[in-house]
Amino acid sequence: MRKIVIAGNWKMFKTQAESQEFLSGFLPQLEETPSEREVVICPPFTDLSVLSKSLHGSRVQLGAQNVHWVENGAYTGEIAAPMLTEIGVRYVIIGHSERRQYFGETDETVNLRLKAAQNYGLTPILCVGETKQQRDAGETESLIISQLQKGLVDVDQTNLVIAYEPIWAIGTGDTCEAAEANRVIGLIRSQLQNPHVSIQYGGSVKPNNIDEIMAQPEIDGVLVGGASLEPDGFARIVNFR
Ligand code: PGA
Repeated sequence: MRKIVIAGNWKMFKTQAESQEFLSGFLPQLEETPSEREVVICPPFTDLSVLSKSLHGSRVQLGAQNVHWVENGAYTGEIAAPMLTEIGVRYVIIGHSERRQYFGETDETVNLRLKAAQNYGLTPILCVGETKQQRDAGETESLIISQLQKGLVDVDQTNLVIAYEPIWAIGTGDTCEAAEANRVIGLIRSQLQNPHVSIQYGGSVKPNNIDEIMAQPEIDGVLVGGASLEPDGFARIVNFR
C-alpha cells in the first residue's frame, strides 16, 4: 500500500499574515477530501511556528524546505532537525533542484541531510530530476539512477518520499506528459529496495492537469509549487478526482 502524498512547496513566498489568509480559504475546502490522502504544506521557515498552531487539529501536515545535517553548531543561516520537530514539522524537502542549482547542493550533502532528517523522525521528500539539456542528450535515466544511488546511501527506505521533478517542467507551465512521468517514476521504483515508497511528480502541476497525472498507476502524489500558493487552486489539486 503506497500512501498518496500531496505537498505544496511555497518556496520563498508568503509572510505569516499571508499564510493565515491562505488557510482561511483552503481549510474549509478539505472537508470532502478522502481521509487517506496526506496533505502537506511546506512554507518558508518563518511561517512554520505560526502555521503549526493554526494547523493543530487539522489534517494538514507541515513540511520544511530544507534541513542541515548537524544537530546544532556554528552554521550561520542554517536550521537543524530538532528545531523543526520541536514545532511539529513532519516532512522536509531535500535536494530540490533550486537548492542544487543556486546553493551548491550535491548528492553527497543531500545524502547527509536525508539521514539527519530520518534520525529525528522527519520524513524526507527527496527531489530528483533532469535538465532539458540532459533530457535532450538522452541522459535522463542515467542521471536519475545516479542521483538515487548517491543520495540514498544508508538511507532508510521505510520513511521516505521521492519526488520526480524534471527541471524543465518546474515553474515553466511545460508539464511533463503524464505517461512520461509515469514511465520515469516506474524507473525510479525499479531502483528502490522498498516497493512501498511513495513517489510524487512535480513540475507545473495545476488544477487542469492534476486528474490526468493522478490517474497514472505509478504516481503516488504531487509536489506543487506555484499552484499551491492559491487556496482554491491547491484545494482543487488536493481534491483530484
Ligand atoms: P511548480 O514547482 O509547481 O511551480 O512548477 C514545483 C516545484 O518546484 O516543486
